[in-house]
Amino acid sequence: MMPTTSLQHFAVTKEGLLVSVGEVDRGLACECYCVACQCPLMARQGQVRTWHFAHAQETDCENAAESALHKAAKECIRRAMKLWVPAISVTETARLEDGRTASATITLEANENVFDEVVLEAAVGDIRPDVTAHQKPGQLFIEIAVNHFVDEEKRAKLLAIGVPTIEIALDLIRHEAWDWDKLGELVIQSLENKQWLVFPDLAEIRAEAKCQTAPNSYQVTASNSFHLLSTSSTLSCGV
Ligand SMILES: [Zn+2]
Repeated sequence: MMPTTSLQHFAVTKEGLLVSVGEVDRGLACECYCVACQCPLMARQGQVRTWHFAHAQETDCENAAESALHKAAKECIRRAMKLWVPAISVTETARLEDGRTASATITLEANENVFDEVVLEAAVGDIRPDVTAHQKPGQLFIEIAVNHFVDEEKRAKLLAIGVPTIEIALDLIRHEAWDWDKLGELVIQSLENKQWLVFPDLAEIRAEAKCQTAPNSYQVTASNSFHLLSTSSTLSCGV
């Protein structure tokens, strides 16, 4: 479980804007509200501790820090309208008739996706991806994991929908101070904390990699195996 001492770095203004603690006036003058419980907050901008928001009154609100970071990460993507996505690599091996194995690897490199439109919490069936990013001709779902990762049930639903889905993991307590710059670095740029939850073309890439092992099979065994030659010639590589 997340320690309840995690600091809250983002809050909502009375106009409904999401702000970091460095962007507001000190104390109650910040006129900010908790993302989780909507209670008034004060901005603690002291000399000793990392700047953060605290509830103005005693409260049992436990998920403020997590909820605020989760909301800020989504907002970060909406403002940036882009996202780096990690590479996908598939290796297939085929056993040759002489006992050796041939393998082929296909890698789709990491790349920066620029979006035409970004919508937060849009319902799809009975689930709500955190972020739906539109990029002609398709779309990308983005899940933000602050301590809670997508569970098997939601993952199964995402797989059934078949839209490419990325999960971004943010470790709330690993970084003491969170602001828009830190979020930009870890949400938009970084690759290490991202994984593909759904990649619909994976079967196709796998088939392609499998297919690329075939010419090796052919070269090695063509002289003594008509059987393998005919097998490989029935595969359609499209390469
Ligand atoms: Zn609260």
